[in-house]
Amino acid sequence: MSELSEICQQIIQCQRCEALVKSRTRVVPGEGAEQAEIMFIGEGPGWNEDQQGRPFVGQAGQFLDRLIASIKLGREQVYITNVIKCRPPGNRDPLPVEIQNCQPWLKTQIELIKPKVIVTLGRYSMAQFFPGKSISKVHGTAQKKDNIIYFAMYHPAAALHQQSLRQTIEADMLKIPALLEQEEAVPRVEQEPQQLNMFEV
Ligand code: URA
Repeated sequence: MSELSEICQQIIQCQRCEALVKSRTRVVPGEGAEQAEIMFIGEGPGWNEDQQGRPFVGQAGQFLDRLIASIKLGREQVYITNVIKCRPPGNRDPLPVEIQNCQPWLKTQIELIKPKVIVTLGRYSMAQFFPGKSISKVHGTAQKKDNIIYFAMYHPAAALHQQSLRQTIEADMLKIPALLEQEEAVPRVEQEPQQLNMFEV
């Protein structure tokens, strides 16, 4: 078994958040290529994901699949996971303590996959890597830190609620292939204490 599969097995057995352990149906560790160049990080499982134990399998997931196809990739060629791996009861927002409890899992997944580009989907995911920034300003922009390019996007579900965001999300997605090709052109962020708070926990 690969190290990543072992970590996913451990994630499935995680007992760190009492409320989520009680309410969850399945844990959703993430899935995709173990050596993916692109890693998508969403917020947390919804109802469908909680039922199936797989990330982004509902309506937002279908849109994400189409976005991935628009850059000539399939979901099996990228890695898809979430900031938190268990669905909060009643679809409430994840608590700060839950996000914190889950951070070491995400950090380990990133270390093992070593993606070239991390795409954050939505506010919670963006906040892990672009703390203090607003998604309306930062979406569609990239910054490089420790050899990884971080690229922020609106959550695909936003397009389902707000039709006007669909084109923005589609256009942002189309910027990703160029990021992979022109890594050098992405601004590098050096040791800004505000950046990448997840790595300072
Ligand atoms: N929304 C997310 O953020 N993640 C999922 O896995 C599904 C919907």
